[in-house]
Amino acid sequence: MNVTLNTPVTEFPGIGPARAGKLEKLGICTAGDLLRYFPRDYEDRRKSVSIIRATEGEPVCIQAMVAETPRISRVRRGLDLVKVKAVDHSGMLNITYFNQAYLKDALRPGEEYIFYGKVESTGRAKQMTNPVTEPVGKNTVTGCILPVYPLTAGITNNLLVSLTRRTAQDCAHEVGEALPDRVLRDYELAQSDFAYKTIHMPDSFELLELARRRLIFEELFYLAAGLALLKGRRTGERGHSCPCESLAPFLDLLPFAPTSAQLRVMEECRTDMAGIRPMNRLVQGDVGSGKTVVAAAAAWMVIQNGLQAALMAPTEILARQHAQSLSRLLAPAGITVGLLVGSMTPAQKKEIRQRLKSGELQFVVGTHALLSGGVDFARLGLVVADEQHRFGVSQRAALTAKGERPHVLVMSATPIPRTLALIVYGDLDVSVIDQLPPGRTPVDTFVVGEDKRQRMYGFVRKLVQEGRQVYIVCPAVEDDPERWEGLPDLKAVTTYAKNLQEQVFPDLRVAFVHGKLKAKEKENVMAAFAGGELDVLVSTTVIEVGVDVPNAALMVVENAERFGLSQLHQLRGRVGRGEHKSYCVLVTGSKSETSRTRLKAMTDTTDGFKIAEEDLKLRGPGDFFGNRQHGLPQLRIADLAGDMRLLSQAQQAAREMLERDPELTGTEHRMVRERIQTLFAQQADIFN
Ligand code: ADP
Ligand code: MG
Repeated sequence: MNVTLNTPVTEFPGIGPARAGKLEKLGICTAGDLLRYFPRDYEDRRKSVSIIRATEGEPVCIQAMVAETPRISRVRRGLDLVKVKAVDHSGMLNITYFNQAYLKDALRPGEEYIFYGKVESTGRAKQMTNPVTEPVGKNTVTGCILPVYPLTAGITNNLLVSLTRRTAQDCAHEVGEALPDRVLRDYELAQSDFAYKTIHMPDSFELLELARRRLIFEELFYLAAGLALLKGRRTGERGHSCPCESLAPFLDLLPFAPTSAQLRVMEECRTDMAGIRPMNRLVQGDVGSGKTVVAAAAAWMVIQNGLQAALMAPTEILARQHAQSLSRLLAPAGITVGLLVGSMTPAQKKEIRQRLKSGELQFVVGTHALLSGGVDFARLGLVVADEQHRFGVSQRAALTAKGERPHVLVMSATPIPRTLALIVYGDLDVSVIDQLPPGRTPVDTFVVGEDKRQRMYGFVRKLVQEGRQVYIVCPAVEDDPERWEGLPDLKAVTTYAKNLQEQVFPDLRVAFVHGKLKAKEKENVMAAFAGGELDVLVSTTVIEVGVDVPNAALMVVENAERFGLSQLHQLRGRVGRGEHKSYCVLVTGSKSETSRTRLKAMTDTTDGFKIAEEDLKLRGPGDFFGNRQHGLPQLRIADLAGDMRLLSQAQQAAREMLERDPELTGTEHRMVRERIQTLFAQQADIFN
């Protein structure tokens, strides 16, 4: 058989429909897929020693002759043992296999085999348990650096090894060199065919490193170039210039004096929007730093210039709250603010859509419902995305596409390290609100164990008696013994709230809210809590972002060890928003030292940036983007947190390339262009 990139796996020997189905689950249908199915790790199986030299506990290959007919014994149902002795010139090795009865006949006395495994010594005898075993001369998975692939049920690593090896040998060269010579040279990258071959069958770890570096660089290069293309289309284009003499009339509308940080950022927006190029700005500011006012200022400016503004919030609750407060703020200036969320009636939605299309409605606040077809604007001048990390790059692009190059303002409370920001936000300009409004006292934070539960309840009661309200956040929605197997103590919102009401606080007003409730129900509960009709609100992290209840003075988080630090910081930001002294109690039953230390970081600082850095170190980048929610294409080999240095090199290379050839129309970039399109297959509009 001659394998090419397009050969279906079903044509490989030994791959019937059942196995092919399982391979498909791993995303493998063709030889080309196999080639791009990268190992997650490697095992060094090269070290080969004689029996006498084998040191205990270290995995080694031993070449030895089977010295007797293997003996099989059935210990009990479901447990067979095969025992055999093997010898080399230096000594004897006792070998035991569990549940591999076929070896009784497969291992032939007098023949030599390679046994790979850890050697143990019992008295003077040496022994191995379940070694990888293959005949000498035919060895394929011993004596080499063995790739370890991500697996699924019914697909063994050995199978993948044999498939990828065959493919790497036959068609690594077919992939072709997509990177321009200049890039290969400037960044000292290995060739494509070498890299694809070596990643699956490395001769040494040094060569493997060269291969990996090339492939990671390449992937990050396409990512960086693709994102730059997505966003770069906006630069150099004319937008709606929105000159504004002075922000004073807007500032007069505010019930408070803005902080100097807020003023600075509003001024930055004013300068941006007065220019001929559309604004493209990210505002980062810790929870409670007052980002909404900046959005309102920007909206006010475009509306003064006869254009419309749209603000997209990640949850319905938040959208409603924003609509309300912005409406209150802007009404005196004669500006109407509309709401568009999924749970409104068709008639309500239709009305908003019509008013947007006619241009009569100046400002709309909504969820991703704003993105749906049929939502058209007469003159969209500004798009604001609140708590951006909840949206993908492409969602922001979709909203932007509803206008003619509107200004864009992205607001995020999750401070992210600079390199990651470059990838996620590309060429956005960044403003930071590094100051909290005056009069905020830091939220006092405590980490407590189960032994303090009763005291914690007592504290809840005390605050409620003082007229305050309390949030309690649980990690799960319902008790689901299967899903949470092994974690029986995980607090679930519904049962927790029921117990709390019946057993602990029969005299208090307790309610719960979680993401699985209907929007309307959620809405009602939140409104009741915001209106002071509830004392204790038990919830999942649906209340994590944005919602504002100044009377809430205590945030209790159950199973706190289950949350990322940035997430806990967000949750803590729900309290301490009014004049009342506020507290955050992190409850954990975890005995693990690392969990405790991690949570301790929350009591030490209230600086969101420090917490975010700590989080990145401890948990990787997933928390910043909610893993697959970030809208970035899925990477096969690169790791956005781990490969920072390569990431900035790849970004630089992509930038240089796009400076030379902004649309990638040159023949030397033809393959780069194709690769970017493949990587961004879900964002099909990238080149339109
Ligand atoms: P976030 O940055 O978390 O989105 P918000 O914009 O929701 O913060 O503001 C948090 C609270 O602080 C709101 O109640 C808002 O009215 C209030 N606020 C914002 N700026 C100021 C200020 N300069 N002085 C006093 N209160 C402010
Ligand atoms: Mg906010």
